[in-house]
Amino acid sequence: MLYRDLAKVYSDLESTTKRLEKTHIIAELFRSLNGEDISEISLLLLGRVFPAWSDEEIGIGSKLVERSVVKAIGTTLDKVEDAIRDEGDIGLASYKLFQNKKQTTFFSKPLTVNFVFDSLRKLPKISGSNSTNRKISIILELFSQATPLEAKYLTRNITEELRIGVGEGIVRDAIAEAFNIDKNVVERAQMLTNDMGLVAIVSLEEGCEGLNKLNVEPGKPVKPMLAQLAPPLEEIINEVGLAICETKYDGIRLQIHRNEDEIKIFTRRLENITNAMPEIVKLINDHMPHENFIIEGEVIATKNGRPLSFQNVLHRVRRKYDIDKAMERVPLKVFLFDLLFYKIPLLDEPLLERRKKLEKIVDTSSDDLKLSTMVYGTPETIPEVEQLFEDSLKEHHEGIMIKDASQPYIPGIRGKKMLKWKAEPETLDMVVVGGIYGTGKRANFVGSYLLALRGEDNEFKSVVYAATGLDDDMLINLTEKMKEYKISEKGLKINVEPKIVLEIAFSEIVKSPEYETGYSLRFPVIKRIRSDKGLSDVDTVERLISMYINQ
Ligand code: ATP
Repeated sequence: MLYRDLAKVYSDLESTTKRLEKTHIIAELFRSLNGEDISEISLLLLGRVFPAWSDEEIGIGSKLVERSVVKAIGTTLDKVEDAIRDEGDIGLASYKLFQNKKQTTFFSKPLTVNFVFDSLRKLPKISGSNSTNRKISIILELFSQATPLEAKYLTRNITEELRIGVGEGIVRDAIAEAFNIDKNVVERAQMLTNDMGLVAIVSLEEGCEGLNKLNVEPGKPVKPMLAQLAPPLEEIINEVGLAICETKYDGIRLQIHRNEDEIKIFTRRLENITNAMPEIVKLINDHMPHENFIIEGEVIATKNGRPLSFQNVLHRVRRKYDIDKAMERVPLKVFLFDLLFYKIPLLDEPLLERRKKLEKIVDTSSDDLKLSTMVYGTPETIPEVEQLFEDSLKEHHEGIMIKDASQPYIPGIRGKKMLKWKAEPETLDMVVVGGIYGTGKRANFVGSYLLALRGEDNEFKSVVYAATGLDDDMLINLTEKMKEYKISEKGLKINVEPKIVLEIAFSEIVKSPEYETGYSLRFPVIKRIRSDKGLSDVDTVERLISMYINQ
């Protein structure tokens, strides 16, 4: 397929906000493709060239692309920067700038999707001397034949900021529509493999049967199973029959893989954080069998036996240098709670069996690697479950998890099979879409943050401005991020790309025509920056409305 045809599809997708329309456009495209093209294009539609399980990224900053645009069209950096400021985006700016570019070769070959894809994959592999120039020359090769529309999307593909409103859900639905496969089968294959290219090509070549054969592989992270808020305890236990009730630790969820001799640690966003936690790698190597496995657990920071706040663990995860010092200052402790693979995939086994297998293979002789504290929940043991909740709060944990013991592991889904019962009122995970600079002493800081939730079409819709709850460090950190993600600024107001996820506490949900959702929050307080969460973890408008009805 020619890249110019893909650029046209990108443009069609960008011009509609309707999810169904986008799905049809992509389904029609998929039906017309062959094997290699479909796997590359399904990734390119998500604005990437590496599957989600991989930690590789193109890694080209906008400055390098700007310099390449300067060379490609023979203009100055000032002019390119002006155009970006005017248009608010490097893609739109390139579209405009490339209209003035002289066509140098008349009989040149047009760009193919495959050539673009391969070139983008080459970029992160370039290192060492003269690497910047070598990267620019690859980009220039792409730009040399580009039409304005191609340039618009090439720059966005290179910077991995596609902005066409297409997420995994739409591509999944389009695969289902194109090849007449049950949406749930496509979704499960994607949650298990986190490789849309693979899911697309298997759908095209082998259909539903092929997808059903896909499974987890140690080394490639799986989307975690998520929890819902628990209804009253008796109700759940009576319904479930047998539950596994565990302490809910307030840390970061880890998925730990061993594949042959290699141990890798992933977050719930599938980020590889192995290098930030060498002591955990050692613990796992010393206290787990040397077999292939995938385990899940929560890592918390502790001092003198007491859990430290969640932000401490987050600092450890983000730390790139002086890891030894960080290890001393913030000691970690892991509580394991699930086994997804042990020599063979175990996802489809009931939790009860997975837990028993996990208990058999973990050596818990170290203080820093334990199984989660648990009791079996049955109608007869309700007082014990209540006691576990009390104990968990006394030990400064968050509450308990109540899991249906008969259930398989369902990746990526927030369902009733895993419930959480916490002491603190529910919070919302919201994304920052704008803000207002402070005045006086706080003039250099964004003091107030416009927060949004995810609507039906994956568009973010505003709910509230939040300004309280920030300490000085958070304020500095957030302001820096706001500047990094700035789209535009006017007076004291700043608009940013939706990137920063904040956890917000509040006293009440109220109706409010002022905000895009039609609802707002009273007394919003920023509880913490959730850099362990991505855009797909941002809470939905639907959830807000259901909380409003139930409050
Ligand atoms: P919250 O903000 O309530 O922690 P979350 O949005 O981070 O929730 P949920 O799916 O709502 O995620 O709650 C489950 C999370 O609780 C898990 O992702 C995991 O990080 C954490 N957790 C702590 N202890 C356990 C446990 N014993 N079993 C499962 N998850 C646990």
